[in-house]
Amino acid sequence: MKIIDNIKELKEELKKIDGTLGLVPTMGALHNGHLSLIKKAVSENDNVVVSVFVNPIQFGIGEDLDKYPRQLQKDTELCQNEGVKILFAPMVSEMYQEDKKNLTLICPPYEVVDKLCGKSRPGHFDGVCSVVAKLFNLTKANKAYFGQKDAQQLFIIKKMVRDLNFDIEIVACPIVRETDNLALSSRNQYLTQSDRKLALNISKALFNIKKLFNDGIDDVRALVDSALKIMEGLDVEYIEFVDKNTFNFQTAADKNTLVLIAARVPESNTRLIDNILLWDAM
Ligand code: AMP
Repeated sequence: MKIIDNIKELKEELKKIDGTLGLVPTMGALHNGHLSLIKKAVSENDNVVVSVFVNPIQFGIGEDLDKYPRQLQKDTELCQNEGVKILFAPMVSEMYQEDKKNLTLICPPYEVVDKLCGKSRPGHFDGVCSVVAKLFNLTKANKAYFGQKDAQQLFIIKKMVRDLNFDIEIVACPIVRETDNLALSSRNQYLTQSDRKLALNISKALFNIKKLFNDGIDDVRALVDSALKIMEGLDVEYIEFVDKNTFNFQTAADKNTLVLIAARVPESNTRLIDNILLWDAM
């Protein structure tokens, strides 16, 4: 496996490879969720590039850019074990020569960013789309792998690929959870013991909504109330029901419903997100 930190060498190395190329963009601190994407990419492509880049332009003021976990040595070993061809881990100055305000950015439309995570994180998806577009252009990968864990991000990236005719296939990968159903996240490292207990109530609330829906309850208000009871003690930023194909809000759940939650866990003030499809046939 080649570990590359600059664009020139990345391009040279990519010229040498034969066959198809899969890309897995990450911010590092790799866990089994990331590894599921990497394994799928390795199984479907002749070559895989994993990028590890904590992208500053997708963080807002006061967010956790500085404390975000960075563990390149461990990430390198994990990628090596999975048969990754290139680990691309550039410095910020390699990716951006200017401040965000002076960069050409890809800004998804208001309609898709003025809700859910985009609402509390203004500019976040501009940063995400811009770095992902750069990685698509740099690698010219055939396929790129993204987790359903970041459902709004996945929706927006698919739209960007469609709208701008990127010649790449987006592969969506299911959420990987701990045995107790907590969704894996690099930010779980911030959680204290009591935080982790409380954080579990996010997935508990989602799975309970799914159960109630299967029992015949489709009223969003009733389902939200049931979830808020379970999530007492958490600072719930949003709990929303959307149509998974359009991300339009719903008042009654149906077979296309995706339920999304963002909540802060009090002690460590960690913001976590999770989601669930009410009907599994995707
Ligand atoms: P991040 O490093 O958080 O930017 O995540 C990189 C990629 O891994 C994104 O496409 C995420 O959606 C995906 N990912 C993160 N956590 C999980 C998880 N628990 N299950 C599946 N995919 C995940």
